[in-house]
Amino acid sequence: MHEVDMTRCLVLSMQSWRQRHEPTLPSVQRVHLEVGRFTCVEPEQLRFTWAVAVQGSWLDGADLVIETVPLVGRCLACGATYHPTVEAAYQSPCCQRPLEEIVSGRELRIRSVDYTLPTPTPTPTPTPTPA
Ligand SMILES: [Zn+2]
Repeated sequence: MHEVDMTRCLVLSMQSWRQRHEPTLPSVQRVHLEVGRFTCVEPEQLRFTWAVAVQGSWLDGADLVIETVPLVGRCLACGATYHPTVEAAYQSPCCQRPLEEIVSGRELRIRSVDYTLPTPTPTPTPTPTPA
């Protein structure tokens, strides 16, 4: 399933993101995503598969905040950008050209991550060994 694969990609991206913070483990509250309309991802479905995938992992409880990026095409006949619709069979309204170039709407990327880093715990003073 589409959303499951995407979730897997996201988890992998988050894992490489985490490596940048090693050895501390950031606590992630929210992951802001940009999802293009043309990816055919259902935001609700993605949030659900995400919640299942991260259960019990270091990302457990992290919320997905999904921002949908509209589909924008460019008409190669006149250079105008337009919003292709299914109703118009994705044709450009200006010249009735088929959708040949997609300007945006295919992205799936992590825009930002809300997280906190653990406060460093003071090194415990060694308990004196009883004499
Ligand atoms: Zn045109």
